[in-house]
Amino acid sequence: MEYGKVTDKELDSIRGIVGSERMSTGESVLDLHGKDESFHERRRPDVVVYPIRTEEIGQILKMAHERRIPVTPWGAGTSLEGNPIPVKGGIVLDLQQMNHILELMEGDLQVRVEAGVIYKELNQYLSRYGLFFPPDPGASATIGGMVGNNASGIRTIKYGATKDFVLNMVIVLPSGEIIRTGTNAIKSSSGYDLCRLFVGSEGTLGVVTEVTLRLIGLPAEYMAALAQFHPIREATDTVSQIMRSGFSPAALEFLDIPTVQAVNRYKKLGLEEKPTLFIEFHGTSATGLREELEMVKEICAENRSLRFDSGIGREERNRLWEARYEVRESIKVNNPGLYPLVIDTAVPISKYSDMVEWGQRILEKRGLKGYAFGHAGSGNLHMEILGTPEEKGQWQKVREAEEEIVSFALQCGGTATGEHGIGIGKRKFMKREHGESLKLMRQIKELLDPDGIMNPGKIFE
Ligand SMILES: Cc1cc2nc3c(=O)[nH]c(=O)nc-3n(C[C@H](O)[C@H](O)[C@H](O)COP(=O)(O)OP(=O)(O)OC[C@H]3O[C@@H](n4cnc5c(N)ncnc54)[C@H](O)[C@@H]3O)c2cc1C
Repeated sequence: MEYGKVTDKELDSIRGIVGSERMSTGESVLDLHGKDESFHERRRPDVVVYPIRTEEIGQILKMAHERRIPVTPWGAGTSLEGNPIPVKGGIVLDLQQMNHILELMEGDLQVRVEAGVIYKELNQYLSRYGLFFPPDPGASATIGGMVGNNASGIRTIKYGATKDFVLNMVIVLPSGEIIRTGTNAIKSSSGYDLCRLFVGSEGTLGVVTEVTLRLIGLPAEYMAALAQFHPIREATDTVSQIMRSGFSPAALEFLDIPTVQAVNRYKKLGLEEKPTLFIEFHGTSATGLREELEMVKEICAENRSLRFDSGIGREERNRLWEARYEVRESIKVNNPGLYPLVIDTAVPISKYSDMVEWGQRILEKRGLKGYAFGHAGSGNLHMEILGTPEEKGQWQKVREAEEEIVSFALQCGGTATGEHGIGIGKRKFMKREHGESLKLMRQIKELLDPDGIMNPGKIFE
C-alpha cells in the first residue's frame, strides 16, 4: 500500500488543529514513540501529536484519511508484541494528555474516563469509594492501551479481562467520524456488539477516546497462599485440580525454577528454588476464607507439596506474593545484553500441564535459556526465551522454539496470545488460529479503514 508523506503542509494542518505546543518532531520524542517493550525494531513516526479533545482527533483523522497518512494510537507504549510501533511512519497520536476521570457513577458501579488514564491511578482514585477495576496488566498501562490489546492479568481468572468491563466507548473512525458504541446497561442483546469488536483491535479500526467501565466492590477480606512442589508437573496439575474443585480463586499464578531464581537474585529474597504457585482468594469474611484455605491446602498436599505457607488479610497477602511481582524486570536484570522473545499462549485448563511440559522440552531440545511463568488459573503460560536478535543463527533457533510452542497451544485448542495481542510478533499464527474467519476479519478492516491508515502492519501479515 502506498502511503502519503508528512510534509510541511501536513505539519501546518496539524498545527492548525492542536497548536504547536501539542505536537513534536523532536528526535528524542520520535525515538520514544518508535519502540515498545518488545525486541521489535524501532521505527520512528514523522510526528507525535498530543490531542486533548475527541474533535481534534476527528479532524486529524479526516486529514490523514484524505492524504493516506498512517496514524497509530499510543497509550503508554508498554506492549510486548510491537503493537504500537509505527512501522510505516506517519502520525502517532499519544493520548497521555487525555487523562481525566470524567464521571464516577458510584450507585451504578461505573466510571467514565478518557483513554489516556493510567489504570493504576484510576484504581487509586476508586479505592476511596471502595471500588476497583480488576484487570491488572502489571505495567503502567492506559485504559486506551488496555482496550487496544484486551489486556488482562492476575485477576482475570475471577473477574474477567478488559472486554468484560467495557460498557460503552467513544471512538473516532479512520474517516474522522465520531461514534458511540454500547450503553450503560450491564446487559444488552441489542444488535452487533461493537464494543467487543473494537476491544482487542490494537488501534487498527479507530481511536478510542472515552470509555465507560463497569466496576467491582473492593473485597472485604483476602486470603493468600504460596505452595512449592517438585517436579514441575505436581505444581501444574494442582492448578487444574483447584479449578475443577469448584473454587473461584482471585488469582492462581505459576513460576518455574529459573524464574524463582531470577526473582530471588533481583529482589534478594530467600524463597526455595522450586516450582511455585501463588494463590489468592477474595471473600466477605475470614471465616469463609479459612474453610477454602483448608481445602486448597488438602489439594496441594495430595500433589505432594513440599511447602505450604498461607495467611489471611492484606498484609499477609503482600508478604506471600512478594516474589510474584517484577518477574520481567528480574529476568532482564539477570540477563544483561539478552532480549526475550515472549510467549503468551493460553490453553484449556486440562492441557496446562502438558503445555508447560512441552515448553520446557523445547527449550532443552534447542539448548535455549528461558523462563516459564504465568496466569496458570486462566491457562495462560508466559515464557521468555532469551537471545540476541542480531545473532541471526541463534535468534533463528529462538524463533523456531516459538513456532513449536505456539503450534502446540493451537493443537490443544488454545491461542497464540492470551493477553498481549498480535502486534507484529504473532501475525504469522493468525491463519492457523482463525482459519476461514481471518477473511472476515480482513473484510471488517477494509470496511472501516479502506485505505489501511490505522496502525498499518499489525494483526495481518
Ligand atoms: C512488565 C510488563 C508486564 C506486563 N504484564 C501484562 C499482563 O500481565 N497482562 C497484559 O495483558 N499485558 C501485560 N503487559 C503488556 C502491556 O502492559 C499491555 O498490553 C497494556 O494493555 C498496554 O497498554 P499501553 O497503554 O502501554 O498501550 P500501548 O502499548 O501504547 O498500545 C497498545 C495497543 O493499543 C493501541 N492503542 C493505544 N491507545 C489506544 C486508543 N486510545 N485507541 C485505540 N487504540 C489504542 C496501540 O496502537 C497498540 O496497538 C505487560 C507489559 C510489561 C512491560
